[in-house]
Amino acid sequence: MRILKIYRETTADGPGFRYSIYFSGCLHGCADCHNKHSWDFENGVVVTKEGIEKIIEEINDNPMLDGITLSGGDPMFSAIELLPVLKELKLRTGKNIWCYTGFTIEEMDRNREKDEVYSAMWECLKYIDVLVDGKFYKDMYDPELYYRGSKNQRIIKVREYLEYKKIVTRY
Ligand code: SF4
Repeated sequence: MRILKIYRETTADGPGFRYSIYFSGCLHGCADCHNKHSWDFENGVVVTKEGIEKIIEEINDNPMLDGITLSGGDPMFSAIELLPVLKELKLRTGKNIWCYTGFTIEEMDRNREKDEVYSAMWECLKYIDVLVDGKFYKDMYDPELYYRGSKNQRIIKVREYLEYKKIVTRY
């Protein structure tokens, strides 16, 4: 798993100041993807234990931060490798975590017992507070939307889905 880019204080990827980590790799192939450079899993810097320690330190040293956002690419394609990193991020920073993915939450739910990557995605959800799900479609693009590009994408409170199978959205 590789990291393409880190934004240490951004207001673009969720509410407040957020520490955003962009992971390499995406196979969704959305026709109008704004960042095709992020599709290649070989781009960026390999995630190491030392690298994660530095990220956690930077987050814990910045009192301005409201949360962490994971984006890409699509971090869920790397869910198996992402899971231990996500656990560390959540347990050692206590920050709320947003994650962007082209998969829908229902897709993860449906496939979680059929495939090890989907199963890892499902496990990842336990450490994610908000999932922004769905692919990007240009014909559903709306510049008025908060924190997402196209109308099909949803900003889902993960806890409500895991506990009650309810889709509760924000914004
Ligand atoms: S999911 Fe995101 S990164 Fe992947 S192709 Fe679609 S818009 Fe691009």
